Amino acid sequence: MSKPVCRLCSSTDAELIGEKVADAPESKQYKCRQCDIVYLFPIMNEKEEADFYRAEFEKYMAGRSGASWKSPQSHFRSYQPEGERRLPLVRPFLKPEDDVLEIGSSTGYFLDDLRGYVNSVTGLEPSQAYRDYANSIGIKTYNSLDDLAGKKFDVLFLYYVLEHLRDPIDYMSSLSNWLNPNGRILLEVPNVDDVLLSPYNIPNFAPFYWQKAHYYNFSQKTLNDVLIRAGYDVQMIPAQRYDLSNHMVWMMEGKPGGVGRFKEIFTPELEIAYAEALKKQWRCDTLFAVMELKK
Ligand SMILES: [Zn+2]
Repeated sequence: MSKPVCRLCSSTDAELIGEKVADAPESKQYKCRQCDIVYLFPIMNEKEEADFYRAEFEKYMAGRSGASWKSPQSHFRSYQPEGERRLPLVRPFLKPEDDVLEIGSSTGYFLDDLRGYVNSVTGLEPSQAYRDYANSIGIKTYNSLDDLAGKKFDVLFLYYVLEHLRDPIDYMSSLSNWLNPNGRILLEVPNVDDVLLSPYNIPNFAPFYWQKAHYYNFSQKTLNDVLIRAGYDVQMIPAQRYDLSNHMVWMMEGKPGGVGRFKEIFTPELEIAYAEALKKQWRCDTLFAVMELKK
């Protein structure tokens, strides 16, 4: 097998930190000793990548059990809590006159939430079934950025996109073509310093967390570095999506899905205090970044 090479700084000095990657027995996780990024190596080639996303989507449409085909409409409904989670985080960065674009907008559940707060919402979504659904409820959604050539927006959103990209610096830098001079980009990625990975070191968590399609796993530092290299001023904000029950179930049973299980015992005050403690130490599960073009 070839030696790992950091795709961000070309260094070959790497520490092996993850042996098992879900669905990618030939790949491992490394941490670059030069720039600190955690990266998957090797990654899929472009053809494998295209086949992977096509197969993933077909699997999704078929339902994992084979029985429960999820319509775009039921997907839209089941993601309402996720839209509600995002809203208070982004509202301080929105103005009523903003034209916003979400890249990877799915069925439009989040843009639907934003409609009351901004001037216009537009989506970008490669899945035709999701795109058709979003358009049917009045959220203009396009297939690719090429369909929006010459357009400019005040706010771009990217949720869980960056970690999938072959060249995140080049991609983020190219987005400035769609951004007004005073515009903002708001994005979220998973935090590789998630407390469940370390120091909890839950044996089943790492092989669940390291994924074949996540070419990069960002920390507060490495996300900031990448976004600065792409040409932006960056403000980094910690966020916590999963609750204390979810963490307890990982510890007890080594599996996901525990959100809310002990809500009779864990008071809202306790949940808030736990999340705040994780965020304060950047051991939370989510990194939220707000970017502006370098002045
Ligand atoms: Zn590096």
